[in-house]
Amino acid sequence: MGRYWNEKIECMAREDMKRLQSERLVAQVKHVWDNVPYYRKLMEEKGVAPEDIKGLEDLHKLPFLTKADLRDAYPYGLLAKPLADCVRIQSTSGTTGRRVVAFYTQHDLDLWEDCCARAITAAGGTNEDVCQVCYGYGLFTGGPGLNGGSHKVGCLTLPMSSGNTERQIQFMRDLGSTILCCTPSYAAYIGETLHDMGYGPDDIKLKAGIFGAEPWTEEMRHEIERLLGIKAYDIYGLTETSGPGVSFECEEQTGMHINEDHFIAEIIDPDTGEVLPEGSKGELVFTSITKEAFPLLRYRTRDICVLTRKKCSCGRTLVKMSKPMGRSDDMLIIKGVNVFPSQIESVLLKMSNTTPNYQIVVDRVGSVDTFEIKVELSDEMFSDTIRSVEELEKKISSDIQGILGIRAKISLVEPKSIPRSEGKAVRVIDRRKLH
Ligand code: ADP
Ligand code: ZN
Repeated sequence: MGRYWNEKIECMAREDMKRLQSERLVAQVKHVWDNVPYYRKLMEEKGVAPEDIKGLEDLHKLPFLTKADLRDAYPYGLLAKPLADCVRIQSTSGTTGRRVVAFYTQHDLDLWEDCCARAITAAGGTNEDVCQVCYGYGLFTGGPGLNGGSHKVGCLTLPMSSGNTERQIQFMRDLGSTILCCTPSYAAYIGETLHDMGYGPDDIKLKAGIFGAEPWTEEMRHEIERLLGIKAYDIYGLTETSGPGVSFECEEQTGMHINEDHFIAEIIDPDTGEVLPEGSKGELVFTSITKEAFPLLRYRTRDICVLTRKKCSCGRTLVKMSKPMGRSDDMLIIKGVNVFPSQIESVLLKMSNTTPNYQIVVDRVGSVDTFEIKVELSDEMFSDTIRSVEELEKKISSDIQGILGIRAKISLVEPKSIPRSEGKAVRVIDRRKLH
């Protein structure tokens, strides 16, 4: 087996990919116009008809879809196939409190699993591998997506789902798992538990991990790679576009290749909706050009990132997206300053005496915001002198102020006192919303 799952597509010349995208877009717009009255109405309001979309260059004429549309159209309003042709639903984890239900035909499941197979292959996976999937199974897309991809590649698949971490490690050791798929925060927790059980990276056979579904920093990547003795690859996706596998990282580990034969990506200015030139930071928008049951056109993800077409050493020609720095609805506004949890994570994990466990607590007293960061100490640091703990506190405080321009109260807390996550980590507690 080679290093690509589908070399023809993954390494396709740009002109050929554009032609393929154009053809598929034209057909998809007709399919949606004919079958989704909700979107047809949006097109009519914008004065666009299917004849106006002749190729990629006309994409910008189409109206956007947002999470609010999904809520309005819940549950069947954006369905483009008869229910009799659908075989599965999945739903969001509800991180932002709004559930989204997505529908799949057998064709849609196949293409989704194929995207995940590309990701596993890019991480070095073959049919010789034992792939342990500890994303949640069920409605959440993580488990089913990677499970399907792992089957396609022919790995021996361990459908563990999340939780029961000691059992995860026991299976990992007994069955010699070589690839781990889960959220990065759970990977860090598995690494910590491995250590607590008296084992280290040499006691397991893992070589690679495929981690996604939540924002994570380069510093977190290094921490996980160290804890588990592996190479950690990023994977991105959202329920609205199928699930994980919309984009995936290759061995260069400098961003995720987007599966452009299925998804057209644009970056827009989130305030004006204007399409931005390559290399600009903005909101990621996806048009799915091959899905049958739930084909969203120009869907606004709220994820903020940058696209690049710089040549990649892996040989893939698929456009690359940077790690999303968090979605626009994750962004906190504290004392009038925009704060992304990932900025805080970067500072914390650069310190040698902290762990990847932290929590940001925001509240309001009178009309003033309060901003506290709870940081968990490592065991060694915990038993260290008060003076060195105070120094660490000062260092974190000044680095945070340097990056954000505002002060945070730093609370260093005991080892193991911050709750661990088996799925998406809860990093922010915003009490202002409760007042
Ligand atoms: P929910 O909206 O309930 O979290 P999903 O499970 O569909 O539902 O989550 C999709 C979102 O998760 C994406 O829009 C993005 O914000 C985040 N996400 C997924 N993969 C990554 C990743 N690799 N890096 C950063 N964020 C990610
Ligand atoms: Zn690459």
